Amino acid sequence: MPRAHVARRTSVFSESVIREMTRLAMLHGAMNLAQGYPDFPAPAFIKQAAVDAINADINQYAITWGSPRLRRAIADKARRFYGLDLDPDREVTVTCGATEAMMCAMLAVVEEGDEVIVFEPFYENYVPDAAMSGAKLVFVTLRGEGFSFDPDELRRAFSPRTRAIIVNTPNNPSGKVFTRTELQQIADLCQEFDTLCITDEIYEHILYDHHEHVPMATLPGMYERTITISGLSKTFSVTGWRLGYLIAPPRLSDALRKVHDFLTVGAPAPLQEAAAVAIEQADSYYPELRTMYADKRAILLDALRRAGFACHQPEGAYYIMADFSALGFDGDDTAFAHHLIRDIGVAPVPGSSFYRPGSGAGSRMIRFTFSKSEETLREAARRLLSR
Ligand code: GLN
Repeated sequence: MPRAHVARRTSVFSESVIREMTRLAMLHGAMNLAQGYPDFPAPAFIKQAAVDAINADINQYAITWGSPRLRRAIADKARRFYGLDLDPDREVTVTCGATEAMMCAMLAVVEEGDEVIVFEPFYENYVPDAAMSGAKLVFVTLRGEGFSFDPDELRRAFSPRTRAIIVNTPNNPSGKVFTRTELQQIADLCQEFDTLCITDEIYEHILYDHHEHVPMATLPGMYERTITISGLSKTFSVTGWRLGYLIAPPRLSDALRKVHDFLTVGAPAPLQEAAAVAIEQADSYYPELRTMYADKRAILLDALRRAGFACHQPEGAYYIMADFSALGFDGDDTAFAHHLIRDIGVAPVPGSSFYRPGSGAGSRMIRFTFSKSEETLREAARRLLSR
């Protein structure tokens, strides 16, 4: 038999369903409520800062760990917002998006065969991240209206083989914001079992109602065992800039930085400069961002409920998981997603892509994003209501 020339690790995960839905949306001219990226302009102040940085000839490699000004801006913000006292020279690393940050974290801390706990529904990247780093994922399911976890089920997931737990809050796709009490339960188990916590906090500034973002690294005793991931993509509507970052104590940052250096060398230098300018100026921008997304959430929630979906109102992030059981459609989530794209002209993501393969969970759900212009949302609403 001829050699396949392809490594086995590539066979244990498939193409991103989210990005596949984007391609299908384009093919069929559907409104893309599948992939979570804004279709409206980024704020003028960040765009101008990027143009200025290019014209000022900040066009060569930045320092691998990230430009000093950006790392300083990130550290200052972490102090102002969360009371974290970071050394930007040792504890902050800029990456090509939160996507690279998560891959770096897994490659830097996981040994082949180690267990990593993940809450499901989960953001789909964690599965390939685990496959490429040799981790074995252990799932804990978020259930019911509020997507809560059973503390006993969580405890049973921990063992001496557990290397880390991934916590994504505010959560994609559920819209859940983990409470301080829930985070404390997780933290207690991390300490008892001497494991790390890797957090994905990319939606930290997209929160609704009274919900508050609590970084795991701020809980007593947790900074030393937490790798915090965030980035600029969602907050500043610049998903194509690929700017993320890692915050971790020096012993972990040293390992993260080595992996990052040889994966990508670094994120785009002029965009890092623009990111620094944006973070330095953004304290009054964050409340505007929340208001903007609260309005978008209201438009889509209302349309989905009127169209017959059962939806949990998101507490944060910009997704709605919608149950289509009451709509009288026979097929599963994938068939329903394709039907919406082809026949209705609105693209969602099938719910099952956020659950472990083969579990059957998510087969009555689809995910919509409302990170779109009011015009896009209203047209999508019109199409869904005419179904
Ligand atoms: N985080 C976004 C989503 O869940 C975009 C994912 C991606 O394509 N990188 O839709």
